[in-house]
Amino acid sequence: MQDSFGRVIDYLRISITDRCNFRCSYCMPPEGVPLLEHSEILSYEELLRVIRILGQYGVNKIRITGGEPLIRKGIVDFIRAIREIDTVADLSITTNGSLLADRAYQLKKAGLDRVNISIDTLNSKEFFRITGGGQLSDVLQGIKSAMNAGLTPVKLNVVVTEVFSMEDLSYFIKQTYEFPIAVRFIEYMPVGRCGVKAGSSIKAIKNSMVWYVGKNVQYKGKWTRLLLSTAACNGGIWLYYAYDRAFLSYLQPHSFDSRWEN
Ligand code: SF4
Repeated sequence: MQDSFGRVIDYLRISITDRCNFRCSYCMPPEGVPLLEHSEILSYEELLRVIRILGQYGVNKIRITGGEPLIRKGIVDFIRAIREIDTVADLSITTNGSLLADRAYQLKKAGLDRVNISIDTLNSKEFFRITGGGQLSDVLQGIKSAMNAGLTPVKLNVVVTEVFSMEDLSYFIKQTYEFPIAVRFIEYMPVGRCGVKAGSSIKAIKNSMVWYVGKNVQYKGKWTRLLLSTAACNGGIWLYYAYDRAFLSYLQPHSFDSRWEN
């Protein structure tokens, strides 16, 4: 299947719930949002039918999202049922990671390939504040369980808000060096009523990454830089600093300046 620009469409994101146990400042108000009735969302059977039909048109990569997808009952059986569809080549989940510690092995066994986890800071107080009550320790345990279960590479999505610090940056770089972890820095897009301000620009993050990796002898010379164009990454601009299976990257979706490529 192709769009009118000739781009191949082989990837489907499915939001299986509008519910979440977090209240991230940039996502929803503290009181939450009006929730859909159960009858208003597609059942697992209906979603499986959609996946089967689209599979006939070449859609072979499936990502499950929410809200928080691990909240929906029956998620492990749903993953198992998707895995049984022979057109599905790649099956992943995007999660806040808070419920992953207990589920990682079950999900892997059911056929999940990999997982993206949102984590914006390593400061537990700030994490609690910007997620509206999330416990950083739960997410860190979820990341560990995901790696132990073999859901690798684990990808960490880091939205760069005002709470992001140099300590966070050095932690994420270290993680990519030591574990099969990929970190993606995402520019913060303040829309609506946001309880958190934007942090460093992605340009500043890039410069700090280059500086930090260059100054630390254990990283020096071990990273390969490669830029993927918009065509190669479906719409965004990605800059990868790759080391073995891990990578650091940033996504600049709405204020990219091509001069940053250099
Ligand atoms: S974890 Fe994701 S879905 Fe939940 S409130 Fe935060 S950004 Fe929104």
